Amino acid sequence: MDTNLTHLVGVDTQHAVQIAPRVWWVGHVLDDDVFQCHVYLLEQGDQSVLFDPGSRLTFAGTLRKIEEVIPFTNIRYFVCHHQDPDIAAAMPLIDEMIDRKDAVLVTHWRTQALLKHYGLKMPFWLVDEHGWRLPLVDRELRFIFTPYAHFPGAIASFDPATGVCFSSDLFGGFTEHPALVAADESYFEALRPFHEHYMPSRDILDFALSQIERHPVKVIAPQHGSIIPERLVAFMIDKLRHLDCGIYLFARENTDFVKLSRLNRTLREITQTMLLYRDFRDIADQLFQVVQNNLPADRIDYYALIDGDQVLTLSHETRFSGFVGDAPPDVTRILGKSREDWAQAHQDDPLMAGHRLHTGAFCSRGDGAGGQVLTLPLFSPERHRLEGAALIHLHQEVPITPEEEQVVRQIAMPLQVALEREVIYRTIEAERQKAYQRSIRDPLTGLFTRVYMLDAMERHCSLHDRDPSAPVAALMVDVDYFKRVNDTHGHGAGDEVLKQVAEVLRNSVREADIPVRYGGEEFILFLVGASSVGVAEYAERIRSAIERHPCALGPGLSLSVTVSIGVAERRQHEPLDGLIRRADEALYRAKQGGRNRVERADGRAGHQGV
Ligand code: GH3
Ligand code: MG
Ligand code: MG
Repeated sequence: MDTNLTHLVGVDTQHAVQIAPRVWWVGHVLDDDVFQCHVYLLEQGDQSVLFDPGSRLTFAGTLRKIEEVIPFTNIRYFVCHHQDPDIAAAMPLIDEMIDRKDAVLVTHWRTQALLKHYGLKMPFWLVDEHGWRLPLVDRELRFIFTPYAHFPGAIASFDPATGVCFSSDLFGGFTEHPALVAADESYFEALRPFHEHYMPSRDILDFALSQIERHPVKVIAPQHGSIIPERLVAFMIDKLRHLDCGIYLFARENTDFVKLSRLNRTLREITQTMLLYRDFRDIADQLFQVVQNNLPADRIDYYALIDGDQVLTLSHETRFSGFVGDAPPDVTRILGKSREDWAQAHQDDPLMAGHRLHTGAFCSRGDGAGGQVLTLPLFSPERHRLEGAALIHLHQEVPITPEEEQVVRQIAMPLQVALEREVIYRTIEAERQKAYQRSIRDPLTGLFTRVYMLDAMERHCSLHDRDPSAPVAALMVDVDYFKRVNDTHGHGAGDEVLKQVAEVLRNSVREADIPVRYGGEEFILFLVGASSVGVAEYAERIRSAIERHPCALGPGLSLSVTVSIGVAERRQHEPLDGLIRRADEALYRAKQGGRNRVERADGRAGHQGV
């Protein structure tokens, strides 16, 4: 017999269908029933077995099919894998029909405790009292303990002679287009919502699966859905093993299983996103996909309180690079509010009154252009304040169904966490930047410090080492007779002069160059790249600019200072201190040569000012 059941594709379900030697399907297909009730008959002469006899609705059809195979009275064993009405409600009808004394209801003791309330004449035969085996004419049935969902006493049966497992609810499926045999892997999509709802947890499902796997199962004959042929058995077991179950726990009122199944997948995606991604951009992208799968969303923009009262905007348009300010009024009005104040604002604030309030989770309004904006408030769980908001822009106005609302609500918490984390990262980064800026800027002149000089010049020198066309030159600049300025006009005036000299220096160099306050009234300008070409002329222009700059020191008081400059061009692989020393030596010669002049390190005569 073909355990892939290919001969059963499209079989007529008006009649009994043989699925294995002596094994028959005798169920009844009801119109408009996503469940279906499959009943199976194991033909053993007058010792025959009927599995899960079915409900009162299907019994007449089942009886007719049994009679096509054997006289009904040949059945001695009535197996009830659990107590549900769609499995066992036909038992009182059967009890009336059967008059043989040896007929028994085969089940587990926990099922007996419930089925006895039918008040049947037929005695129970408990699998747990008979070593979980039932010897038959030509084979011995095995019973498998598969507690699940609504009933911890559930069992399944296995026929070693054919490899058929009568699995009851396990491997059952919901399908609007019933097929007696599962055609391909897509049957899992019928099986998925059924198990998500009927299994309270993956652990319990895994236990039941592991019990079944102990037997050499070739065909799975469930009570609902489709029979699973051998080639699909391993696939279905494997897929079930990774299924998250128990979604009824958070969706009690809803009975649309397929929608809930989709919701379950969505929630799993949200959880995975939060576990897998750290970067706000990635999280925002992933959650956007989740929302897009449920709503006609164009984009989501985020707003968060930062530094107490400023608003950080992370917009989809700028790839969430983030800027402060420019939040829409809907957002600035609600940020910082407590939950109560926010709810109150819906009644009192004319701008908010137009928004629909969705059970405290989000509100929506038309965007004036045929679209709709959902405002999802993000409350900080610790401070109970609204510290962030996500604006979901939809390209059309749509009614929000409870499932979609649930999706939107479910993303609120991960978004709140992601946004809060982003605000913390940015605050720390801003602090770090400030501290770094402080350490690299001289407070008096605003020029770079030696700390920064070492850092930056290491990079420029190594670039020059690799690439001779990226030259570096140092201009050591020292104010002439500066002591006299202090002595004559006071230290404060001296400071002012230093500031103004620094200002002239800063204005004289290009963006890429590095002006450094090297010591008291000594500066070094590092010229990098193209600007070191014609460096002596360049130094001369600086000398001249300072000479011509009147340093205003107060009302009616201004004075001019001059500088001497030593110029050195870096040789490839020359250490920084070597370069500085040569510039310093050139400066010394400029001083020796009379000050207010430029001297080059190679010894060539510089230019003297007038
Ligand atoms: P030279 O032409 O040889 O360079 O003469 P100089 O007077 O400029 O040289 P010297 O190095 O003897 O004097 C530098 C003076 O700069 C000494 C110090 O008091 C003053 N100085 C150093 N740092 C500061 C500062 O931050 N503010 C002020 N006002 N003066 C400073
Ligand atoms: Mg000096
Ligand atoms: Mg000096």
